[in-house]
Amino acid sequence: MVCLEHMSEMAVIEGFCLKCKTYGPIKDGQLFKMSNGRTRMGGHCSQLGCTGKISKIVS
Ligand SMILES: [Zn+2]
Repeated sequence: MVCLEHMSEMAVIEGFCLKCKTYGPIKDGQLFKMSNGRTRMGGHCSQLGCTGKISKIVS
């Protein structure tokens, strides 16, 4: 079954939105490799009507 693999790939990363001051899941998250070798998840706030961006270091 590929079910478990699929779930881990779809793992929701949460971050803090500075715009609406809410901690929630990152929407349309993408991983970015930073020059110092760490990985950052960047995406949009999932709150309805909020256009804020969320960025979080994941590793
Ligand atoms: Zn927000």
